[in-house]
Amino acid sequence: MRRVRFLAVLALVAASVLALALRPGASSFAQAPTPPATPSTPPAAPAAPQVDWNAVQIKTDQVAPGIYMLTGRGGNIGVCVGDDGAFLIDDQFAPLSDKIKAAVAALTDKPIRFIFNTHLHGDHTGGNENFGKAWTVIVAQNNVRRRMSVDQVNALTGRTTPASPAAALPIITFEDSVTFHMNGYTELAFHVAPAHTDGDAIVRFVEANVIHMGDCFFNGRYPVIDVPAGGSIGGMIAATERAMPLMDDKTKVIPGHGPLGDKASLWAFHDMLVAVRDKIQPMVTAGKTADEIVAAKPTAAFDATWATDSTSAARFVRVVYSDLSRKK
Ligand SMILES: [Zn+2]
Repeated sequence: MRRVRFLAVLALVAASVLALALRPGASSFAQAPTPPATPSTPPAAPAAPQVDWNAVQIKTDQVAPGIYMLTGRGGNIGVCVGDDGAFLIDDQFAPLSDKIKAAVAALTDKPIRFIFNTHLHGDHTGGNENFGKAWTVIVAQNNVRRRMSVDQVNALTGRTTPASPAAALPIITFEDSVTFHMNGYTELAFHVAPAHTDGDAIVRFVEANVIHMGDCFFNGRYPVIDVPAGGSIGGMIAATERAMPLMDDKTKVIPGHGPLGDKASLWAFHDMLVAVRDKIQPMVTAGKTADEIVAAKPTAAFDATWATDSTSAARFVRVVYSDLSRKK
């Protein structure tokens, strides 16, 4: 009996060690006085498990007084620091949490009080669990929490993203908009109905003339549109059109991916989306298949500027096709 119990304990310890070792989020955050990950929990799979996280460096660029853009691996992070503490927009992947924390600590000695998630994707919310366990309040649109609470199956790739642990879920959610009043700025976050997903929000630092677009803006590259999670190209176009009147020629625009942009670069993105949609829609209406449309190269005029590799144009066309060919 004792031997059986000993073996059971041994197995439990081994499984815990394995789970911790495999878990990309294992870091000094994980050393907080919380129990180790239960052995039954499979390790959260990051989008790219082969990434050498040690090699990733977090770069900090000032956007406005007290406002910064952090780049590393994953979605661009917005940071606002000042007397009221740090306010972050998105948190990339779990293995980078310590580096992100260090980058913020280099800007302020105040704690990270809020993290705002622009949408559910793991390259924007992967650090949630680490920061949530460290008492940072995570805020997002209702659909972000709703989707993160359950397994997400991508109908295009067949890949399943497991439901997030409780500590990773936003604990304050909103439907249309929420306003933060921190560090002398008004940070207005507003939901843009189905765009990149069905839970996107854009954050505007009103007085600073800075806007974080989340993944409603990929600067200089074809976007991902998560159609299974409620995204659509029409919604992406609408989101850019909603943000545009809030900008002038001096507005700094933080994209979800790509370098810091401005009104002109966002408008170029908008025009590309409109042109590609208008090329693909008639082919879909005419009953062409995805393969036929890819072969017709409807994005040819844009690839030099927007394609990041030899397959990104075809991927984008297939996503647009999957949206436009849906029964609505
Ligand atoms: Zn995304």
